[in-house]
Amino acid sequence: MVIRFQMIPEDHPLQLSFVIPSEVMNASEGSKPSPYTFDAPIRCDVKLRKMDEDVWVQAQIRGTLCPDCDRCTKNYNYMIEKDTQFTCQSLRATNAIDDEDGDLYFFYGPELDLTPIIREIVLLDLPMQFICNESCQGLCGHCGTALDLEGGCQGCGQHAIFPQKIVHL
Ligand SMILES: [Zn+2]
Ligand SMILES: [Zn+2]
Repeated sequence: MVIRFQMIPEDHPLQLSFVIPSEVMNASEGSKPSPYTFDAPIRCDVKLRKMDEDVWVQAQIRGTLCPDCDRCTKNYNYMIEKDTQFTCQSLRATNAIDDEDGDLYFFYGPELDLTPIIREIVLLDLPMQFICNESCQGLCGHCGTALDLEGGCQGCGQHAIFPQKIVHL
């Protein structure tokens, strides 16, 4: 979503809604393929405020991702719900600005492209581990069946050992 700096009114914020297509979210970085597969677009509702030569952006980002659970390998829906704010600093501006309330991004010339910024925010906000449910018991260490119940496996009847859980006696 490219915004011309001139499009933003002086006295009130500019509100915009747009989507980032899944192909853009899934684009590879250099030679590395993206580790995530977005199969739905990311929806963005943004408010842009002119601050001298810079733009202050409030963004509501919504979407879903379908990762495999790192414990049980089951595919599940992960909701992306991120409310954030950041400043886009025009590189023509000479005075430094305060970066306490959010991240700082830069733009060159008369246009500001929000797509790579929002994409980066979404990717950086994803967890290191995807867990389908806090109570997910993972896979049985004996037979590989996904465990749904505490304390045992319906596949082989063995008690499972969870590498993620350390039990203090
Ligand atoms: Zn799971
Ligand atoms: Zn089992």
